Amino acid sequence: MTRTNRIHIVRIITVSLLLLLLAACSDSSTGKGEAEGDGKLQIVATYSILADMTRNITGDKADVYSMVPIGTDPHMYDPLPADTGKVSGADLIFYNGLNLETGKGWFQDLLKVTKKEDSAFAVSDGVTPLYLTEKGKESQVDPHAWLDIQNAVKYVEVITARVIERDPDNKQYYLDNQTAYVKELTELDQYAKEAVSKIPQEKRVLVTSEGAFKYFSQAYGFESAFIWEINTDSQGTPEQMNRIIGIIKEKQIPALFLETSVNPKTMETISRETGVPVHSRIFTDSLAKEGEDGDTYLKMIKWNIDKVIEGLSR
Ligand SMILES: [Zn+2]
Repeated sequence: MTRTNRIHIVRIITVSLLLLLLAACSDSSTGKGEAEGDGKLQIVATYSILADMTRNITGDKADVYSMVPIGTDPHMYDPLPADTGKVSGADLIFYNGLNLETGKGWFQDLLKVTKKEDSAFAVSDGVTPLYLTEKGKESQVDPHAWLDIQNAVKYVEVITARVIERDPDNKQYYLDNQTAYVKELTELDQYAKEAVSKIPQEKRVLVTSEGAFKYFSQAYGFESAFIWEINTDSQGTPEQMNRIIGIIKEKQIPALFLETSVNPKTMETISRETGVPVHSRIFTDSLAKEGEDGDTYLKMIKWNIDKVIEGLSR
């Protein structure tokens, strides 16, 4: 290799490295996605269920980023650098509120670090809260309001109003999407109420790991039982195990249900100890992966209703 050739190669490598470095800097310094330049609204939702509701309203007029990964728990989360970037660059941030994103204060800290408190809105604003029932916890709100479809309609009203505020030019488009989506939600609510009415009242006891079904139970006439009341509790203590085993035996419950966003071990132990099968997985705090059953809010609720009725009719 001649000296000139060698210098040439060194120069190419140096320039390539510089370009790589520049690309890396421009990518991560703001954290804003490549779609930023296209003028679309940039929206962050704390978890997949809210992201799906939002996409039903915004259609192709916004980029919606869902923070907590599918199948994991939004009560507790450690935001990644990519999340911080997305929140920093967001026009709107939607969170559940009602004591959901509170584990170790992860979400409030994230808003503080990114100085985005003014862009964040609790979609549960219009909901009448229910409270935890265990001794000493009665002042804590139960977050799982979205499992009552009529509350989902309230979530969608908040989402639509905030989106229109930020993008008034497309107001009619968002309102039309809201009307269409609320129609589907209302039909599903009707479906759920009719389906549930076919199983006898005394069979309507829903056993899950987390006590996530208070709003659902109130809306659709169930009694709900659980191992631990909320995911921020300690999970599967001997007292919790003994209590739920007692309830399952006393009420002769035919089927147990396991949420996709909790550790399955405890419910599997309960199933072994009682001889009652885990009838199905069920969705509470997360959608299913894209392409699988339950990958939208409408589909996850339909799945839950169908599986619960099937299991409890045994
Ligand atoms: Zn939960």
